[in-house]
Amino acid sequence: MADKIARVLLVEDDEDDYILTSDYLRQLDSHQFEIDWVTTPTKALEQLSLGKHDICLLDYQLGAYNGLTVLEKASKNGCSIPIIMLTGQSDDTLDQSALAAGAVDYLVKGEITTSRFARAIRYALARQEIENERLERINAETRNQSKDRFLAHLSHELRTPLTSILGYTEILLNDNKAPNAKAELNIILNNGRHLLGLLNNVLDLSKIAVGKLEHNIEAIPLDSFIADIFSLMKVHACEKALELVLHANTPLPLSIQTDAVRLRQVLINLIHNGIKFTEQGQVILMISIVIVNNKEMLSFTVSDTGQGIPKSMLATIFKPFEQVEDIISRKEQGAGLGLSICSELVKHMGGTIEVTSELNSGSQFTFSIDPGDITTQPRTIITFDQQHSSNAKLALPQLQGRVLVVDDMDDIRLLIGHNCQSFGLTVSYASNGLQALEQCKLADSQDASFDLILMDIHMPELDGKRAIKALRKLAFNKPIIAITAATMKGVKQELMAIGFNLIVPKPIDKAELYRGLASYLNLKEQSTCSHVDAIKDNNSAEPQQRIMVVEDDNDAADITVLLLESLGAKAVKANSAKQCQALLSTEKNWSKILLDLHLPDADGLALARTIQHAYPEVELILVSGATVAEQSLEQAGITQAILKPVNRDILQNLLTKL
Ligand code: ADP
Repeated sequence: MADKIARVLLVEDDEDDYILTSDYLRQLDSHQFEIDWVTTPTKALEQLSLGKHDICLLDYQLGAYNGLTVLEKASKNGCSIPIIMLTGQSDDTLDQSALAAGAVDYLVKGEITTSRFARAIRYALARQEIENERLERINAETRNQSKDRFLAHLSHELRTPLTSILGYTEILLNDNKAPNAKAELNIILNNGRHLLGLLNNVLDLSKIAVGKLEHNIEAIPLDSFIADIFSLMKVHACEKALELVLHANTPLPLSIQTDAVRLRQVLINLIHNGIKFTEQGQVILMISIVIVNNKEMLSFTVSDTGQGIPKSMLATIFKPFEQVEDIISRKEQGAGLGLSICSELVKHMGGTIEVTSELNSGSQFTFSIDPGDITTQPRTIITFDQQHSSNAKLALPQLQGRVLVVDDMDDIRLLIGHNCQSFGLTVSYASNGLQALEQCKLADSQDASFDLILMDIHMPELDGKRAIKALRKLAFNKPIIAITAATMKGVKQELMAIGFNLIVPKPIDKAELYRGLASYLNLKEQSTCSHVDAIKDNNSAEPQQRIMVVEDDNDAADITVLLLESLGAKAVKANSAKQCQALLSTEKNWSKILLDLHLPDADGLALARTIQHAYPEVELILVSGATVAEQSLEQAGITQAILKPVNRDILQNLLTKL
């Protein structure tokens, strides 16, 4: 017996015809039919308006009434149930009018036992199933959209106060305003950052839950991708005097296709955990190719020599919300969401993740990802010079000069910039070759040319190789140092041949970077710097920028203004779109406007469109709590979007970047 149930509304004023039709329906083996019988047009319309049937069989002649009237009224009322008109005899004109009035088909009662009847019922039901699925899809989509909007809103609401917490703490620490409370301020800063990490995790999990994780597959150069992660994580490993090691003994493809942001997130999370739970020894990253179901997959293993994970915990370690007991007894902070997110992200990249661990001897996390078609990719052994570093405290003679740091990865650019600042240099930033060219032209026009450029090779818009050619054409004859993983044979020679003066390898080693810079730049007279990364305000040589901060949260607005002023800019706040418009019409020469996405009297994007129209020369930057689609930004004339909480580094980057 068919297990599909179809609810039929049979509109028929003749009982014999009702019995005949329903008997026949029950003999059809495609469905089980539940039949509701009504005899009048009014009852028929009443039932149709309830929308609980999958199909309606409607007699054309209902006593004195005409079935066509019912049909017309039903479709006028928005009825979406397929209606088949039953007529006494074949009549072409009548059949055509039934179809025109919205019937899906018409049948002659006398032919009710033919296969045509069975087919008409089947088609009408199939059609209704498709319609139901479509409606269900639309409903689900609408539900997801509102969840999505809620998440974006929540994210915004949570990030805004974090801007104040982290921002004021940074100001107090960096400006040494509360020398007696340094320890306490560091506690606030660490806890605020921890809260931000948790917030990001919860939002990631929610995105995964509503199926809203963006897929962003792109080609990434594996060697420099790994080198960048190493540069960042090495800083943390060195702080704990641990060794961070890469083992990649098999040739690996130079380029893979994957979601770079998510792969980076997984690797950083695992390496970070390795460092966090290891007191001495090493954290090792192993990369190899493995064959799974006849396909080449890229496999990563992060192992450490740390405390290990108890057996009882291993089974649930990738499952969110199942670690409550451990969390309560746990020494380290954490909601235990990081690994669950990693496991979801790995699935999203086409692979699997597993863990083995032995208490007091170490843990090993292995995951694979689908690297796309790598069969034709050139392969190489990726190695880094892994001398144990020099990121420890250094006392080096200070250098002098203005350097431009060009790298598309925000945190790498800042890491290099911070190192340069700690050597005494004045730093400007660009995130690709095109911006570097613009920066150089601008610096020349202000008689403040750069003394040296540090340039990444793989960048969007204009890569390092093309950028150096353009720079040399512009007669920039100062040293340009390439910062690259350059694992392929011959790359170094190629870079030197096109005009780079030196290559400083990634992952970045502070001492090596210093040596590179020192071979071209002069020493400052009679001073040394300690490694303490005192952030200097290096913008004194730049013309002062006038920036408007449009933000309705007063605390967040104040701290952003304060941070901008501490970086040498002139900043003014506006708490609403109206105030922003008033400032624009009364004061001129704004360089940039930082726009909050949600304002009490306007949507940030709409306001941006208005400003762009009236003041196209002002650079618009969106400050939001959740990511905004690239297309919406472009349409509103926004050149970049930054995610709350804003901090000093982000703002400095903004000030020095065009
Ligand atoms: P969180 O998001 O709280 O950082 P994770 O999901 O990343 O948590 O990790 C969950 C827990 O698993 C950690 O709190 C820790 O107890 C354990 N763990 C993860 N990685 C390691 C490791 N490399 N060594 C020991 N324990 C680990």
